[in-house]
Amino acid sequence: MHPDIKGVVELQQLDLQIAEMTKLIDSLPGQIQKLQSQLDNFIAAHEDRKKRLATNQKERKDLEGDVKEIQEKITKHKDQLYEVKTNEQYRAMLKEIEGEEGNIRKIEDQILEKMMAAEEIQKNIQEAAARLDGEKARVAAEIKHMQDERQKDMNEREQLQARRKEVAAALSESVRELYERTRSHRTGLAVAEVREGLCTACNVRLRPQVYNEVRSDEAVLTCENCGRILYYLPPPPAEQAGSGHANADAIA
Ligand SMILES: [Zn+2]
Repeated sequence: MHPDIKGVVELQQLDLQIAEMTKLIDSLPGQIQKLQSQLDNFIAAHEDRKKRLATNQKERKDLEGDVKEIQEKITKHKDQLYEVKTNEQYRAMLKEIEGEEGNIRKIEDQILEKMMAAEEIQKNIQEAAARLDGEKARVAAEIKHMQDERQKDMNEREQLQARRKEVAAALSESVRELYERTRSHRTGLAVAEVREGLCTACNVRLRPQVYNEVRSDEAVLTCENCGRILYYLPPPPAEQAGSGHANADAIA
């Protein structure tokens, strides 16, 4: 193969690999961030449940205080029953006590609801607490793994870039410029294989004369349609010979 064509084919492979590597490397901080925020959310939900439990307990205590207050009132009113002078006053007092007892029942229902809610929250807190250390360790290990992978990718990219420098330096200046110019115009793909008379990048048929020149491999040529540098890979001779033989045997 013409050394400049061989060079640009390798250069394109390297550039594609470097671009792929860069995509991976650049995507990692976002992935790490995502993982970290999952853990942060887990911890925040855990803290939120603890706060809700504390609020629940405070509200329950307040309700229990209310019950106690009403009970004291009831006791006082029961004592007053002995002091009333008329049946009317007596009935009114009984009615008041009944109302207060009703209030206590309502508050006790609320307390029961709070207790049930607290039980549920408590259960969730215990579950989260049991998982928390494991989650922290898992996320830390995953982040470490991602960072190691990223470092590996960066090292590999550095090697690819060093190789790219060598390959680019070995090209003749005009071809190097042609490659870079075409690459920037053609979104990364500056080189295209010719197969069965077609440019495989733009699928346009080459003029027979250009096709012959590309196959002769004597000069660097570009596709007249898309401007990419063309190369031609002759079919491997061993395969041809092999299939020929097989056919001959079959006929014999
Ligand atoms: Zn083309």
